[in-house]
Parts: sequence; C-alpha cells; structure tokens
Amino acid sequence: MDNGNLHQNYFALQLRDLKQEYQEHICNSEFYRYYRSGRLQVYGAVKDKKISDVAMTAEWEMALQKIENNEEDAGTFQREMETYATSITRELLDTGIAQEKQPELTCLKCKSRQLLIWNKVVKCPDEACGWLQFRSVCGVLLSVADIESLVTNGKTKLIKGMKSKSANKFDVYIVMNDKGETSFEFENRKLKRK
Ligand SMILES: [Zn+2]
Repeated sequence: MDNGNLHQNYFALQLRDLKQEYQEHICNSEFYRYYRSGRLQVYGAVKDKKISDVAMTAEWEMALQKIENNEEDAGTFQREMETYATSITRELLDTGIAQEKQPELTCLKCKSRQLLIWNKVVKCPDEACGWLQFRSVCGVLLSVADIESLVTNGKTKLIKGMKSKSANKFDVYIVMNDKGETSFEFENRKLKRK
C-alpha cells in the first residue's frame, strides 16, 4: 500500500468516526429532543440563532468534503463542531420551550403564525403581530390544555382558585374573541342577573 492510499484510508476512517460522533452528539443532545418535541415551535424560537443557519450547515458539508479530500484537519473540525454543538444546546435551553408535547395552534390575531408555548408566556413569533398571553393568570398557571382550549374553542374550562387583588378566590372561564383579546367570563353571571 502506497502513501496516498494510507492517507486516504486514514481519513476515510476518521471521517466515518466523525460522522458517527456527530450523529450521536446530535441524537443525544437536548437539541434533538427539542427538535423532535416540536419542530415548528423550535424553529420559531431559534430562527435567528445559529442553529437555523443554513449557511452553517453548508459549511459543515464543505468541511467534511475537505477532510475527505485531505485538505483540512479532522481534529480541528471536530473541536469546532463540539463547541458549536454546545453553544446551540445552550441557546435552545435558554429559549425555555416547554418540554411537554405542544399542540399546533395558529395565532388568532394575525391568523398566520403558529403560537409558541413557553414556560411563562404563549407568544406569536411574529414581532409585528406581537400577540402574547401570560400563562400565569391571577395566581393560576394555565396548562397547555387550557391554552389549547382557549385558542381552539375560544374558551377554557372553568379555572378554579384564582385570586383577586383583594385575595378573594374566584372561578372563571377565560374567553378569547377572534382578534385574540381575552377576558373573563364568570360562571355565576347568569345567576347574578336573576
Ligand atoms: Zn400573530
């Protein structure tokens, strides 16, 4: 076996390991978990961040090609990729996307974008639209099911144990009109009228 072939074999092996390692890293990482739990939500949350940088992906492909052609050092590339994987994982963790399965809900205000359900808010990814609903309402945290019901049916189930400013507890339905404006609907409203 001549020197050229040795080199080629060496890099072919390196490349295989590298590709495998890359795959494992991605599959095991938070990134992949988040990605699987809701591609669109993740995309909306990270569209301006490194992870969605298509050019970056193309760059990787080119680097791999260069390694294959013996033009670039595999070790350097691997280190760069590890740093990169760590940074995108951190970015995703910072976006605070809820881990529970997310329903696909279209924003009622702009009627085009898919809402992002975060730990503390539900938010339209369109900055111009700007629709936002805090998940904590009068001391009660709205569940994903509550939000789904609100957006889909325009009304939540009866939400119990909310606290008014004067610390009185009350039960209420949260309702939303077709412009995405929310308000309270009291259960005993009809009774009061009598
Ligand atoms: Zn919107």
